[in-house]
Order: sequence, then structure tokens, then C-alpha cells
Amino acid sequence: MDKYPVNTPPVQSLDDLREQESPVVIFGAGFAGQVLLNFCTSVGISIACICDNNGDKSKLDLPGCEVIPASELVNRYSDACFIIAAADIGDVVLQLSELGYENWIAGGLLLKGIDISEHACKGPLEFLEYSVSTCILCHESYLTPDKIFLRSVDLVITERCSLKCQDCSNLMQYYETPINYDSASLIMTVDSFLNEVDEVNEFRVIGGEPFMNKRIDLVLTHLSAHEKIKKVVIYTNGTIVPKGDVLKALMNAKIVLIVTDYEALSRNIDQLKQILDENKITYYAAKAQNWTDCAAIGPQHRSVDEQKDVYKRCCAKNLFTILDGKFYRCPFSAHVDRLKAVPKDESDYVDIAGFASNQENAKTLKSIIRDFVFDKDQLGACDYCVGRFLEDPKITPGIQTSAPLSYQRRR
Ligand code: SF4
Ligand code: SF4
Repeated sequence: MDKYPVNTPPVQSLDDLREQESPVVIFGAGFAGQVLLNFCTSVGISIACICDNNGDKSKLDLPGCEVIPASELVNRYSDACFIIAAADIGDVVLQLSELGYENWIAGGLLLKGIDISEHACKGPLEFLEYSVSTCILCHESYLTPDKIFLRSVDLVITERCSLKCQDCSNLMQYYETPINYDSASLIMTVDSFLNEVDEVNEFRVIGGEPFMNKRIDLVLTHLSAHEKIKKVVIYTNGTIVPKGDVLKALMNAKIVLIVTDYEALSRNIDQLKQILDENKITYYAAKAQNWTDCAAIGPQHRSVDEQKDVYKRCCAKNLFTILDGKFYRCPFSAHVDRLKAVPKDESDYVDIAGFASNQENAKTLKSIIRDFVFDKDQLGACDYCVGRFLEDPKITPGIQTSAPLSYQRRR
């Protein structure tokens, strides 16, 4: 089946919504969904409930509105009209269509132009604005077939990490001789990639620990100056305090740090926060949490249908990742390819660096990226991956290993 069977919303406007006889349900309980709830209430549209694929969201205490897991939709509402508030709208449209629902509107269209401060929910206004603008852009992109807009792209600048987490979902625990990537090659790949896509909401600079790459400043300066990138987000573990040119490169309005707090392991987190505060650099610090047991590598022996089902349900399949000049769907498929832990499957990535050096291929790079972003229904790597699902039990984060974990090389 075509991954996106419909991309024209059957419901187009507030007036269309008001005329609905069936209950109106918001799909997606994140900030954009909560702002939509407040907005709809203010314009007299009654919301029956909010639903979300993440069952934990049903614990949210929203005034006058119940949050239910999407798994309860069919039993609770045999008929409904949906306002989609999730950024990954294509996945939701497909999910609704498979559940037998046909009536939906892209919530991003309703959010466009509204004053968020008038409809704000709990949470920092800056975060709300960012979530709402992401929702608007993702929905516009979905409704504009010629555009490639990506919510986020992870750029791996190093395989080195100052911690050794045995359950690292980026598979750092398997690298025996991790390397830093050369900033000139990283920049060349990013430029070739951005020549073909229209916008990236968030370029995430990751590792390992990104500050292990001493020339991160060159990459950050380049990314921050690029007009197609809205935010540059650095994921760090609170062990390294940037200084000199690196600190200077962080002083840019586009840059945000996400500092994961591993308690005693994040040995320099207080000093890091102090430096960031002193230099007015935006950051959010949060305890390591919500880890799942998803880092094992090994054959799963699934049928094709089981494989497609795993891919469809996997919450990591849109964590687009650039690693070593190639563009992948998720960190797992990127790193198992790099580690040679799966049989070679060239359909699991787009070779950006390879295309950039080949004029004949460069003509079709945009269409190849587009097909890769919108039309995949499984990866070869999925058959060596347990998958990442919202309902998975949580494990203790940050348990350290003293030596790299072994795995079977398959090529
Ligand atoms: S801090 Fe832990 S989870 Fe984060 S990249 Fe390093 S090893 Fe992986
Ligand atoms: S199941 Fe597939 S899409 Fe999901 S993390 Fe694993 S390899 Fe990636």
C-alpha cells in the first residue's frame, strides 16, 4: 500500500468542523494538541477527547478533556472527526485510514496565525511556540507534495563518548575504535543534503558525546548560518564544559543544548550550566529517562508482514540520521551499517556524499531523498532490531559497561 494514501484533508476549515455531526477528537496530546484544545474551546468547537499513541499521555491532567490511548479509539468512538496535532501527520493519516476513519483536518492549518499566548497550556512559551511552528511546517509540507520538509535530522559528528552506557540507543557501546568525523566532510555532506531539501526544523548535533569532537565549533557555525535550518540542537551528557572557540560558537540564537543529567556520571553538569547561564546560551537539562531495551543486535527472523508491522509501529523510524556521508531513517540502521553488523543493504540509506561527487546522479538526488522519506515501508536493518515502541517497558538509564560489547559482524 502507498504509505500516504491521502494527502488532501477531507475537512478544511473551522466552519467544516462546526458542521460535523460526529464527535471531534484531537490526535496528539503534545503541546500542539493542547494549544489546539484551548483554541477550539475558545471558538466554540467541542472536543470529545484527545488521543495519543503514547499510552502514558492518558495521565495528563487537561482541564475538561480526557486523554485516551489511541488503542481505545475504535471501542470508544465508532465515528469521529479528527484534528491531527501530531507532527508526523502522514503516519497518523495512515493509521486512521486503517482504523476506518476518513474525516480529518490538519491541525497545523488551524494553528497558523493564532496568537499562541492566548491559548497557551502549561509549559515554557518558547517550547509551545516551537512545537506549534513544527506542527504547522510538518503539516504544510505533507500537504505540499513538492516540498521536502524534515522535522529533524541527527548529524553524527563523533562515535566517541565520555560515558559508556551499555544500553545506548545510538549503539556507542559496540564501537571498539570510535572516531571523530572531519568537520570539512561533515559540512560538505550537510550542504549537499540541504541543496535538495526545503527546510529542516532541527539539525541535531550528536555523538557519542558531541563535545568529544574538538572542531564541533566549525560544524556549529556552519549549521547556524544556514538559512534552511531553523534550530541547531546539541545533545550532551554533562561531562564536558565547552570553552574557547567552541563556547563562542554556542553563542547563537539558533542553538539550543539538551543536557541529559546522568547524576554522578554527569560530573561537570553544574559547571556546564553555570557557563551556559553566564553566556545566555539556551539549554534544557533533564534526567535521563524513558530508556527502553532497544540496543540488541541480532536476527529477528520475521516474515515480511511482521517486518512491515514492526517498522510501522516503531517510534524511531523518523529519526533521520546522517552518518559518514549517508542519510538513514534511524540511528539503529545507521550504526549497524557502520559497524557492519548487518548484511549490506543499499536501500537502507541514501549515499549523499557519493551522489555529490557524481553529477549524473545528482540530478535525481532530490527525488531519491523524497522517496526515501515518504515511501519506505521497512528497512533491511529492521530484521536485526527489536524495534522501539512507545508502550515498551522502561529500563534503568545510564548503566555503564567497562569494555565495548561484542556483536557478530556480518560482512
Ligand atoms: S552518554 Fe550514554 S547514551 Fe549518550 S551517547 Fe554516550 S553512551 Fe550513548
Ligand atoms: S525497527 Fe527498523 S526503523 Fe525501528 S529502530 Fe529498528 S531498524 Fe530503525
